[in-house]
Amino acid sequence: MSKQTLNLSDELYHYMLSVSLRESDELKALRIETAQDPMAMMQISPEQGQFMALLVKLMSAKNIIEIGTFTGYSSLAMAQSSGDDAHIIACDVNEEWTSVARRYWQQAGVADKIDLRLAPAVDTLDSLLENGREGSFDFAFIDADKTNYQAYYEKCLALIRVGGLIAVDNVLWDGSVVEPEKMDADTVAIRQFNESLRHDNRVDISLVPIADGLTLAMKI
Ligand code: CA
Repeated sequence: MSKQTLNLSDELYHYMLSVSLRESDELKALRIETAQDPMAMMQISPEQGQFMALLVKLMSAKNIIEIGTFTGYSSLAMAQSSGDDAHIIACDVNEEWTSVARRYWQQAGVADKIDLRLAPAVDTLDSLLENGREGSFDFAFIDADKTNYQAYYEKCLALIRVGGLIAVDNVLWDGSVVEPEKMDADTVAIRQFNESLRHDNRVDISLVPIADGLTLAMKI
């Protein structure tokens, strides 16, 4: 038996989905529609959506913030798994992608749980901090422009409560993090973020090798 995380073959990956994926009709339809978009690779995988939905439910998360909404798969998954009193602030700058998200939130009957903020996420996070929301969020999901990850993380860390969780996507960046010749700004930013988090004693961490790598950081 391998001591390392298994490298999933296509067959094993499809097996995993076949025995574990429980995707709502709306999530499935959204995933299929988004697959037609040239930027479809920005959509999280269904098993990652289900994992995050489980975390949100496990934590009974009520106040959630998402940085990078795209066409809304992750926010829809979290909205469907959270309680009626949950509230998600979804940050994005793209009107076209988030119009798809809005349509599916409506169809799924969760639109009133999601507050879309079309603005640079740093500005939205700063305004939440200015409005006294420090320490008031349970869960944050960071999945936007990689060069701002450190800034998003610091602001989310201030916004979440002790015991709250930050989930950071794409931390393995398709393997580029271990390819020394890859020195583009995104790869460098992700490497720096991962390395700084390693020594960040404000959080407990686990890098979960699901999809493109999802780091969980719990505020302590
Ligand atoms: Ca992502």
